[in-house]
Amino acid sequence: MPSTKKVGIIGAGIAGLSAGILLADRGIDVEILERADGPRTVGSGITLQGNALRILRQLGVWDRIQAQGYSFDTVGLRAPDPEATVLVVMNDVRTGGDDLPATVGMHRPELAAILRDRFDTAGGRIRYGADVLSIDSNETTATTVTTAGDRRSYDLLIAADGLNSATRGLLGIDIAPRPTGVGAWRVVVPRPTDVTRTDLIYGGPHHIAGYCPTSDDSIYAYIVEDAQVRDSAQPLIFKELAVGYGGPWKQIADSVDENTPANYTWFTTHLVEGPWHRDRVVLIGDAVHNCPPTIAQGAAMALEDAVVLVEELFADDAPLDAVFTRFRERRFERAKTVVESSTQLVQWMVDGHRGDVAEVIQRVAHMVKEPA
Ligand SMILES: Cc1cc2nc3c(=O)[nH]c(=O)nc-3n(C[C@H](O)[C@H](O)[C@H](O)COP(=O)(O)OP(=O)(O)OC[C@H]3O[C@@H](n4cnc5c(N)ncnc54)[C@H](O)[C@@H]3O)c2cc1C
Repeated sequence: MPSTKKVGIIGAGIAGLSAGILLADRGIDVEILERADGPRTVGSGITLQGNALRILRQLGVWDRIQAQGYSFDTVGLRAPDPEATVLVVMNDVRTGGDDLPATVGMHRPELAAILRDRFDTAGGRIRYGADVLSIDSNETTATTVTTAGDRRSYDLLIAADGLNSATRGLLGIDIAPRPTGVGAWRVVVPRPTDVTRTDLIYGGPHHIAGYCPTSDDSIYAYIVEDAQVRDSAQPLIFKELAVGYGGPWKQIADSVDENTPANYTWFTTHLVEGPWHRDRVVLIGDAVHNCPPTIAQGAAMALEDAVVLVEELFADDAPLDAVFTRFRERRFERAKTVVESSTQLVQWMVDGHRGDVAEVIQRVAHMVKEPA
């Protein structure tokens, strides 16, 4: 990597922290600018697929992920009947390799804390309350200016500022996340003892009811419905929706009260088709490709971006423009397949079309089994 000593990263999410770890490990001075006032301590669960786990192991955090999360290798389909009868249990593809489970569920704040600790140990710094408002980038330097007027200059700037990335607009990329027509409630509740993997119910009162164990004691449960204006501070709405389901869902619904942490989000999609960089600034993660979580690949794509970007940066002394172009070339088709496949699954839901969901999921799984 020619003459790059100081790297700035916008966003302390999965993409930003993982890129930060990889760079700090190689002796680069890395600073993350994060608009939040401090580390996030609340949040829902996340489903991490094998290809995400492979990279988390590469980052040196697999032991903690394994200890704090909940590993499993199968996925079940249940009927929308009063017992939520198990229709089929399928082996999931171990996309990270045979020595890693197919899936780990965990609390998002715990995953974030593990990555932050690791970044800290590697020597990186996070500046909280740093909301980047503008960027001045030229052939030698990228300078960020925050809403508080703080200016900082870097040899290279990685924009990992997520779904609603302001950096995209600052780089002249005119694209915004497109709503897909569905929204999801997520709640964190105690784990019913018979919940040991993800089970999905299609064809009930709402598009999907599902859950994922996140530890021995907890799960996150979700219901996907037609997108509407909802208030995340109203978990009792989730409870009303959950009452329509049987089996473990009875206990899930019973567990929810007005204090249950809940979140309601619309599923969106976008993919930046043109360049993912300008001058010394490059976009990674949700900022550049965002998929509805129907295949749970968003975090994996963010992690893979970080690894591929750092590999390309250290591959040779080529100018940054060539390095960033190579990075996008390595990532584009894979990210596109994930975005399009995830979006296709939502479209079938919205259209009430019985598409071959299993074929789509298997095809993506076999693609991401190959390292990025
Ligand atoms: C309902 C839902 C469920 C999902 N479930 C899963 C799942 O189970 N498995 C999975 O793999 N993926 C899932 N995803 C997708 C996954 O969460 C994302 O793909 C992933 O978090 C993207 O990480 P990121 O680092 O790119 O962005 P983010 O995690 O969004 O991080 C961006 C960071 O940038 C900061 N930031 C933004 N703007 C600025 C600014 N101007 N200045 C400074 N800081 C800024 C933000 O505060 C944030 O910390 C889900 C998504 C949704 C919506």
